Amino acid sequence: MIFSKSKKNESEDKNTSPEFSEPPAEEAGQQPEAEATSGYFRRLKDRLSKTRKTFSDGFDRIFAGKQRIDQDLLEELEELLITSDIGVQTALTLMERVTSSKIVEVDQVKSFLKDEILAILEPQTAEPEMAWPAPRVIMIVGVNGTGKTTTIGKLAARATASGQKVLIGAADTFRAAAIEQLMIWAERANADIVKHKEMADPAAVAFDAVEAAKARSADLVLIDTAGRLHTKVNLMEELKKIKRAISKKIPDAPHEILLILDATTGQNALSQAELFNDALGVTGLALTKLDGTAKGGIVISICNALKIPLKYIGIGEKVEDLQKFNAAEFVDALF
Ligand code: GDP
Ligand code: MG
Repeated sequence: MIFSKSKKNESEDKNTSPEFSEPPAEEAGQQPEAEATSGYFRRLKDRLSKTRKTFSDGFDRIFAGKQRIDQDLLEELEELLITSDIGVQTALTLMERVTSSKIVEVDQVKSFLKDEILAILEPQTAEPEMAWPAPRVIMIVGVNGTGKTTTIGKLAARATASGQKVLIGAADTFRAAAIEQLMIWAERANADIVKHKEMADPAAVAFDAVEAAKARSADLVLIDTAGRLHTKVNLMEELKKIKRAISKKIPDAPHEILLILDATTGQNALSQAELFNDALGVTGLALTKLDGTAKGGIVISICNALKIPLKYIGIGEKVEDLQKFNAAEFVDALF
């Protein structure tokens, strides 16, 4: 669900989007634009090196010494796609396209696949965010350890760097350490934080955070949530309660429900997405830890299976390691 056109136009008190513009401010400030952009792409390429190796080594091995496409080659190619965590369904779809294409030369296969993969990814690339009346509320959800708190810290830092007033709601009250971790990120990002005690009612924290954001004229509110027991009904019920508490303060909020998925969990990420989407209606995805896996094909799997925009990718632990997902750049970095 992307914001409806009418809503975009209705909004008068225009708020700059929480999206950061690429390249990151700290790089852009010091370098000519083209150079900074290439630095940004270089980082992406560098961090995706494990996945790129899976693909490029695989292609080299399969294509070595062959001129024409034969059955052996097709089988090996299918296996390569599946092992890169592209998913069986997506791999089969791609293989079907290769076989039904007119391609006979081996050296055409790679660029054909690149185009086909781009065609899968492109529609899932989020449109630029539209202006929204402040405060814009983003609720961050996901299984424990996927990178929710880290992503909030990165988003907060980017938004404050671009001049926005950011408030973070510590609605993961499950452990005191979770609140402390968020406080460190908030301080680093120069963002406000609203927190209660450990084990406090998360919905009450979210409610207070949105109230404080309105009172303080914040531009952006980021609500952290707990991620344990995702298969149990009670976590989903708790998240629904948080969502309702937010909309009590601002009727059309949360404006975004961002689901954080960990790329290293492979196909598991897909079932998590279905679960969270059924319960909450996820509006955007962030896929973290792509730097730590050779199976970055999961990006393709997710874009093919879920019709939810992939908004961000995490390629490391630092602030600048959160990038807006761009299908063309991603494919270029992989091939
Ligand atoms: P949460 O439980 O969902 O809030 O997850 P955290 O934000 O606490 O993150 C769990 C761990 O993943 C932390 O050690 C983070 O530093 C790490 N992490 C998060 N995103 C990334 C990423 O994009 N790349 C890498 N390498 N680590 C990440
Ligand atoms: Mg956390």
